[in-house]
Amino acid sequence: MSPAEYSWHQTPWSQIQLMQEQERLPHAILISGRVGLGKKAFANSLINSILCSHPDSEFNACGQCHSCQLRAADTHPDHTEISPEAPGKQIKVDQIRQLKEAQSLMPKVSAAKTVLITEADQMNVSAYNSLLKLLEEPRDNTVLILLTRNRDQLPVTIKSRCQTVTIPVPAAEIALSWLKNHDANFTDEQWQTLLRISHGAPLVAAELGEAGLEQQQQLLRDIATLMRGQANPVTMAVEWQSFDLKSVLLQIQAMMQTKISKLLQSETEISAALIQQYWHIVDCITHTIKLISSQNNPNKTLLIEDFMVKIMQHANQIQQLQGMYR
Ligand SMILES: [Zn+2]
Repeated sequence: MSPAEYSWHQTPWSQIQLMQEQERLPHAILISGRVGLGKKAFANSLINSILCSHPDSEFNACGQCHSCQLRAADTHPDHTEISPEAPGKQIKVDQIRQLKEAQSLMPKVSAAKTVLITEADQMNVSAYNSLLKLLEEPRDNTVLILLTRNRDQLPVTIKSRCQTVTIPVPAAEIALSWLKNHDANFTDEQWQTLLRISHGAPLVAAELGEAGLEQQQQLLRDIATLMRGQANPVTMAVEWQSFDLKSVLLQIQAMMQTKISKLLQSETEISAALIQQYWHIVDCITHTIKLISSQNNPNKTLLIEDFMVKIMQHANQIQQLQGMYR
């Protein structure tokens, strides 16, 4: 995979190129960026280039050498990848400890070894301590690459020992042109809607597009109806059973969080009261996601119905507040 695949990777990639040119590619690189910006693809390009025997002048892997072939087959002996054993789980201290043993070995094929830790913000304290030890005793022949969607959650001790490379949210026109290239079946307007829901992350927008634009539009209409307090929760909850409920709830949560950040900027008396209501909705979503993910709650229709009733209660309060301050 070449970094050119995603045009918004150009700037962070030139940061890597510069470090490489000056022969000061760090031992630990923290790749930071939101979901849906292609962090993993960026990391994979970087790993390919580090392991490749003949990277080109722009530090792109050649794609031909033995190392590149091993990488393509996902069997490179000098590369290790660590991630949570199941989605939502934390990386265990044992997984980090294994790295320490691997670190003492010499590279077998390439001039260096690479380690990729995805979701580096998903660790408990003992795993971080173990990782810290690795970072404190860097090896010349090992590059540690950490991915995080939330740099703020990482301990300062870890962050300060890594060189951060941030994958930016692309400008709207760059994202749009990439999406049009990706799938020509949608209009500009449709992609813009999906981008808005995705907070500008093109890969999330593309995924939503694949899930079906019609479903998206229905969802947006339903949310608007809920927020006006005019939905019929019984019928709507039944209709929603055809959706991926968890992803729908996460989307609504993201929409509410966007509202909150906008309100935070205005700093008026009403905004504080509204923010509180929107936070109630966010909490309610978190709670519902937990219930939906739990094995003990088979009746998802009832759960969603209950969720909708609560949202409408908060929506009513929001409307009352807006009426009071109008
Ligand atoms: Zn190569």
